[in-house]
Amino acid sequence: MSFSDMPVDVGPVYEGERIRGNQMYVELGGPKIEKHFELVRVKPEKEIEDGKVKIIGPDLKDMEEGSRYPIGILVEVSGPELEEDLEAVFERRVHEFCNFVNGIMHLNQRYTNWMRISKSAFEKGFNTFQMLGTILIRLYKAELPIIKKAQVTIYTDPKKIAEPYDFALEIYNKRDERARSINDEDVDTFYGCVLCQSFAPTHACCITPNRMSLCGSISWFDARAAARVDPKGPLFEVPMGECLNELAGEFSGVNAMIKKRSLGEIDRIYLYSGMEYPHTSCGCFEAIDFFIPETGAGHGIIDRSFDGVAINGLPFSAMANQTGGGKQMPGFNGISIQYIISPKYQKYDGINSGLKSGIYTIVWMGKTVKDRVAEFLPPDLVDKIATEEDVSDLSQLPAWLEKVGHPITETEEFKAAVSGIEEEEEGEEEGAMVPMGTVGMTIPGVGGAGGFKIILKNCKIHAESIIIKKIETKRKRKE
Ligand code: SF4
Ligand code: ZN
Repeated sequence: MSFSDMPVDVGPVYEGERIRGNQMYVELGGPKIEKHFELVRVKPEKEIEDGKVKIIGPDLKDMEEGSRYPIGILVEVSGPELEEDLEAVFERRVHEFCNFVNGIMHLNQRYTNWMRISKSAFEKGFNTFQMLGTILIRLYKAELPIIKKAQVTIYTDPKKIAEPYDFALEIYNKRDERARSINDEDVDTFYGCVLCQSFAPTHACCITPNRMSLCGSISWFDARAAARVDPKGPLFEVPMGECLNELAGEFSGVNAMIKKRSLGEIDRIYLYSGMEYPHTSCGCFEAIDFFIPETGAGHGIIDRSFDGVAINGLPFSAMANQTGGGKQMPGFNGISIQYIISPKYQKYDGINSGLKSGIYTIVWMGKTVKDRVAEFLPPDLVDKIATEEDVSDLSQLPAWLEKVGHPITETEEFKAAVSGIEEEEEGEEEGAMVPMGTVGMTIPGVGGAGGFKIILKNCKIHAESIIIKKIETKRKRKE
């Protein structure tokens, strides 16, 4: 496959390229634009005109420098072996393929997609979405050979995007509804995904019926379909093995998978806990679930569209840095929105605190995410979870929870925390302690080979130990 006819380079080497505000020509989608999406649909062969790119709305060259526009990317594909279950997994690749283009930064997925085109790409001649569509079509067909034909439609018109946007939301909802129809107990195989290892080399998602991938775009059904058609690809089967701890969701097969895929960095995962051996997070999680020590056992959740600072004083971006990168971070977890309403949501933590289930550990939510899941929350809990409209000052949260009778206030942890806060107020100000877990840093050797790794273990305010490890040069693992 050649891209020599394109004015910019295309390849995996450009994944991870950042385009800052002052380097961007235009911004497409993102939190400041109301309607934007990306969607892949499997179609009958006769409905696809292979290679066709249609632009509905202003093209790149008609856009004003420094401005923002909606973006809708509809990729339609056909092939005799394709099935609808593959759509979500194909759709996830939009992120990767856009990022292959030198001069495009793509973040997130579904209706949170966010892109920037760099000034330098535009100046080199990358000035039409025809090029983006053509690159996507070529990459789809080359990387996923079961796709025989593909066409792309790009929407940038704020009015004309409304209809396909609503249609895309309908499809996402249908997928999520189906994903909620089965539980972990109903299956004997989970799935794994390593698509994000280019950003977070020790991260692998374990996708189960009750744990949608943390990017929120791959359900157990989607992962199963992908692993079936391409078992050696980035999505693969994870035999559950022996259940080692039912409450925690610890399985020997999942432990073996993460050990292998994290190259030995992580060897144990509690699928249903955010506090002990939690699942790792890459960077594209839909929401962040964070521990609020001031409430004993309580947790807060914010999603990407949350603008401002959460109850702990941190905006999404600061918490995302803390959470992501493929580390196991007790108390800071990247999650999908669907996982919040899963019966397994942090069940281990909730039950261990004497609560009915994990969902009762949630004491605060950004309003954007609460609105999205409210209809699925237990009716006896929904009004007891604060949002920024109820409480925005952490010191007032415990009293608010007591006032509304949140079940967390019955837990020993809450009582201890509240009495702790009172004592602290009289004593010396200690400053916020942010759990950092284990922090690793790699110092490459000459020519990028070997080098050293510095690991700061269990670091909170200071590191307990510094480990300097020589790294043996390994051949790059082939999938
Ligand atoms: Fe795959 Fe997980 Fe990345 Fe989603 S977040 S693309 S499931 S590794
Ligand atoms: Zn990711």
